[in-house]
Amino acid sequence: MKMSRQTVIEIGSDALREIGSDLICEVCIANGGSCCYGCRHLADGIGCTRRNTSCTAWLCGYLKYLLYATGQLKEWDEFWRQVPGQDFREDFTPAVFDVEKGLLIRSIRPLSEALAADLQELVRQHIAIGFILTLREKIDKNIDRLNQCEQDPKKRKKIERNIKVLASPFHRLRRALQQYEPNN
Ligand code: SF4
Ligand code: SF4
Repeated sequence: MKMSRQTVIEIGSDALREIGSDLICEVCIANGGSCCYGCRHLADGIGCTRRNTSCTAWLCGYLKYLLYATGQLKEWDEFWRQVPGQDFREDFTPAVFDVEKGLLIRSIRPLSEALAADLQELVRQHIAIGFILTLREKIDKNIDRLNQCEQDPKKRKKIERNIKVLASPFHRLRRALQQYEPNN
């Protein structure tokens, strides 16, 4: 089917709302971790002035983890793999292009709420500036590595263990996930 660049951005932005990205970003930005930092499209008091397909598709470690933990990361990746012209903080995506599938992301805002509270607690516990930002990068790297070794079960197990250890301080999220899974 044909899809427009604008529609893809709207689909992605809606999905991010369902994921609850705003709740995580609030904690992250307050602690100096904004991924928009230094971007020329960022306007004071307005936010992004040039939303593009690339930034909509991009997930940081925490958002990636939420989709990984709820089994939705593949769905996200498959959808965005169809969108051409993604670049760094801009896109060359055509106005209209072909896609084979839409994007179906379940609402997980209660999980994001739990993760945001866990991150707040980590900020309080760790005086060292940037603790949650370093953790975000470590989780991000491990999930990417996991995606790169689909055919190697031994390696996958090791990386899955790493991710589990990294996510061990997320107590509220773990409880929320236990309640979430049986219903989905
Ligand atoms: S790095 Fe992640 S949590 Fe932080 S502002 Fe960007 S998208 Fe939000
Ligand atoms: S273009 Fe991307 S990095 Fe720049 S302000 Fe917009 S969302 Fe942030």
